[in-house]
Amino acid sequence: MTYTAQTQVLQIDSQNPQSDHIQVAVEILRRGGLVAFPTETVYGLGANALDGIAVERIYQAKRRPANDPLIVHIHEVSQLDLLAVNIPDSARQLAQKFWAGPLTMVLKRAANVPSNVAHGLDTVAVRMPVHPVAHALIKAAGFPIAAPSANTFTRPSSTSAAHVLEDLNGRVDLVLDGGAASIGLESTVIDMTQGEPVVLRPGGILLEQLQEIIPSVRLSPRFLAMNGQQVSSSPGMLTKHYSPRAHLMLFDGPLDVVMIAMADTAQRLVANGKRVGILAVEEEAPQFTELGVRIISLGKRDDLSQIARVLFGAIRALDAQGVDSILVRSFGQEGLGAAIWDRLIRAAEGNVIRVS
Ligand code: AMP
Ligand code: MG
Repeated sequence: MTYTAQTQVLQIDSQNPQSDHIQVAVEILRRGGLVAFPTETVYGLGANALDGIAVERIYQAKRRPANDPLIVHIHEVSQLDLLAVNIPDSARQLAQKFWAGPLTMVLKRAANVPSNVAHGLDTVAVRMPVHPVAHALIKAAGFPIAAPSANTFTRPSSTSAAHVLEDLNGRVDLVLDGGAASIGLESTVIDMTQGEPVVLRPGGILLEQLQEIIPSVRLSPRFLAMNGQQVSSSPGMLTKHYSPRAHLMLFDGPLDVVMIAMADTAQRLVANGKRVGILAVEEEAPQFTELGVRIISLGKRDDLSQIARVLFGAIRALDAQGVDSILVRSFGQEGLGAAIWDRLIRAAEGNVIRVS
């Protein structure tokens, strides 16, 4: 196994990426190396998608089981035909409306795409990111870039270059540091290979937005039940996917009762000598300040975009402080709340504490 001993980091302008930095990255990708780069969702760990050996390195670097397929990133719609066959008109409509942006479409895989990109499935997941650095990189490379989130398997996705280095220092050739990811949660994944399109993973493009173009789009049954069982409809959608080192407890129910339950639980854990971290919105943080817990603010209660943006970083920060337990509440399942709920329930490994 050949792991990079040294990881190079280049600060890159997120709006007008320096072409010499992009060129350094392209050279690495051309010779089969790995480059972590910012996208609007999270940081990606990229390799030449058409080079099966380079793709294999991604799995090694992430310590990711090879049954977890990757997303292939393109910079213009014409590259779609290089990767996929039998593309339905509805997929082209979605591309026209939501690309470039945080929407990934699962399509029938073209023969020239190495099968390890999709762990042998006959499908391929494709996305066109809007982030100027990602766009410039894919364009300059001239080939599509396979990139899963740039974290070690089961760690929260990286939303900054610092997170990438935390997990992958010495295992990736180059990190393009373009600052914080603006959305902070991974893309919406929609399966276009079935009769009716199905959302496999909620994300920045909402179900409601997709239904404006294709009224029949529905959420995978995984999210309809959502009562915490280990269910997996998309390969790689393991419940244990974002687990922090600490034990995460997700509270759901009427807000006033949830607040009491969280405070009681925190108090009990602290009394038992446990270190407790709480992820709280600004309005609710004061309720926990006297409990001897570490509190990380997720921003304002009604600003789901902000909560999404800082969530993974906040979980990592509490992990770094060595807490035993992380307490957080649900933020509903409306709009972006669905994507936040999905990430939290997986960080909690399916364990939801329902109070009423
Ligand atoms: P990540 O790149 O870390 O955001 O994760 C990629 C996710 O996209 C995988 O874990 C799957 O859930 C989904 N995905 C990628 N390729 C496919 C595919 N061919 N079929 C279904 N889901 C896919
Ligand atoms: Mg991931």
